[in-house]
Amino acid sequence: MADGHRKYPVNRTVMHHAVSDDMVNWADIKVQDWFSVVGKSRGYKNGALRSYHNHPSRSVETYAMAHFCLHRYTKDKNKYGWRLTPLIKDVWNNVTWHASNWPINQQSIGIETAGNYVNKRLDEKALMLVADTFRFKDKQLKGKFWINGHKDFAATACPGQIYGQLPILIDMINNPTKWNKKLFPAPKPKPTPKPTPKPKPTPANPLIEKLTKENEDLKKKIVEMDVEISGDNKTIEALKIRISALEKKLKQQGENAGIPKDTTDKINESHSILKKIWDVFKRMLNK
Ligand SMILES: [Zn+2]
Repeated sequence: MADGHRKYPVNRTVMHHAVSDDMVNWADIKVQDWFSVVGKSRGYKNGALRSYHNHPSRSVETYAMAHFCLHRYTKDKNKYGWRLTPLIKDVWNNVTWHASNWPINQQSIGIETAGNYVNKRLDEKALMLVADTFRFKDKQLKGKFWINGHKDFAATACPGQIYGQLPILIDMINNPTKWNKKLFPAPKPKPTPKPTPKPKPTPANPLIEKLTKENEDLKKKIVEMDVEISGDNKTIEALKIRISALEKKLKQQGENAGIPKDTTDKINESHSILKKIWDVFKRMLNK
């Protein structure tokens, strides 16, 4: 059903705030009923005047005085967190009394934002929902779709702080890419973990290998010596000769080795092992 009052093209949207409950997550039918009840008492003399508008969710006339209600709605997990609930059927072909100006009403879409915006600003994602919904019309009209606030046409504070945000809404209609990037940034891809580089095997140092082996041998000898000493199988002289020979050998290897630290470490280890051998030797002497 069309009321017959439209003047084409419909080339404007007028923003309002309803000074009402925020209607967060209200079902469409509840929102539609609320605006119909309020409109009926305000503008339609409690039903003495007809609207000729169909309720979108019931087979009854509705007395809503705007085309849409903009309210926070997260139940369907839409990306805005907001919803534009139609308040009458066939919004493009029916006129609602929202702008206090008949010619403007005839060519506009009225949007009631649920809540009171005198002291707060509207979430930019809500503005983006409006921009995304009406951008197609702006394209049809080659950029001649206008954005207004109620106060452009009447002495009213409506739509509160939203009025100052209208340039943002216009920019959103004109530059969707920029605003999508800002409001809905793509999640950063997880960085692929770099494989931790395997530690390079230290190149084999033949001298270190040799010293390591000899130190192991020396350690074994301490054990053997202890056994030998306790068994009194070797003479003191034999042990002296063996130890001094080992020390000489190590000293020489140290001299040949030159500077590298790991080499001197190994030589020090050799010396400490030799000291232990001396300790064993002394114990035997004191026996
Ligand atoms: Zn208004």
